[in-house]
Amino acid sequence: MVMDPIFLPQLTRAPEQTENISVNAPLADLASLTPVQGQIKVVHHGNYLQVSATAETIVTLVCDRCLQSYNHRLATQTSELIWLQEAVLDDVAEGITFTGDLEDPALTESLPPNGYFYPEDWLYQQLCLSLPQRQLCDTKCPGIVVEATAETEKHSLDQRWSILETLKQQLQNGAQ
Ligand SMILES: [Zn+2]
Repeated sequence: MVMDPIFLPQLTRAPEQTENISVNAPLADLASLTPVQGQIKVVHHGNYLQVSATAETIVTLVCDRCLQSYNHRLATQTSELIWLQEAVLDDVAEGITFTGDLEDPALTESLPPNGYFYPEDWLYQQLCLSLPQRQLCDTKCPGIVVEATAETEKHSLDQRWSILETLKQQLQNGAQ
């Protein structure tokens, strides 16, 4: 664990209820070629956290088309609100209907108010979300080039035929 978890009650006593974290290290769960570099800012707003970050690194991906590995600059610039509340499941168990705005995807994350926020896990998730849906080494990647290979084989076959043809010619010339 590169980054220490933030104990939320302690964050309320921090200057401006804010913690700034500089990141310049590989993340435990992310195989990156370079350290993850960036900033995370965590602000405690009483009943929710506001977490924002900019971060980037270089990762090796496998192209969906040609299956070759290639390097990709993975970057994220994101901001998220996280409700501070006991797990929704507890409320349901107590027969209380959750009235939070579940329609808003930005507010569906929640953490217990007396728990921890894990900046490294959070940043890892943000970087994973930033991975391209289609992983291509190049937008013009032609994929696995089957036809070109067949073409090459045909070409070398032609060459062998032409050598045979030359030999045949030489033999015929010699016989005369
Ligand atoms: Zn490719």
